[in-house]
Amino acid sequence: MNLPKPLNDLVENLKRLPGIGNKTALRLALFILNDLEKEEAASLSEALISVKENLSFCEICGVIKEDACPICQDNKRDQSTIMVVETIKDLLVFENTNNYFGLYHILGGTIDFSKGIEPDDLKIDSLIKRANSNKEIILALNGAVDGQLTSNYIEELLKDKDVTLSKIAYGLPVGADLSFADDKTLKVALQNRMKVK
Ligand SMILES: [Zn+2]
Repeated sequence: MNLPKPLNDLVENLKRLPGIGNKTALRLALFILNDLEKEEAASLSEALISVKENLSFCEICGVIKEDACPICQDNKRDQSTIMVVETIKDLLVFENTNNYFGLYHILGGTIDFSKGIEPDDLKIDSLIKRANSNKEIILALNGAVDGQLTSNYIEELLKDKDVTLSKIAYGLPVGADLSFADDKTLKVALQNRMKVK
């Protein structure tokens, strides 16, 4: 039998989420139908709309913000260091170590020609504009080919700029995703960062 249209619509919407196939979408939709109170369903739908309406990305660092940027506009943070990360996920990994209190710059990925990701697709220009003599830029990209390529690309662009540049040391196997590293490894990787220039 065909699912009633409202249920089918819900299943189709849930299937757009990453990692949710047909079966899981149907299970979630049936859970919402059978087990959620009407108020709970309303609260879920309001939360969905609210993230879209009330959140945006900081124009400077790329962090998700509500009004003021929780990183750039926090004057307790060290304004003289900028850690360059690939994604907000990596930023949260560093934040959770409670060991880094500077600023960030989210690139939005790494250069990967095999996937069609070119320098212009990333927030590299805006990073170069943030670089000045009062800043240390710490590259914290993954240790695989794409991360290294991106680090090298940024190093080249900063070659003639008066800025301190360093790279986190990898106590990680090459190719490891930052989010798999434990707090201690990241702490050591940050402490032992290598000065590039
Ligand atoms: Zn910001």
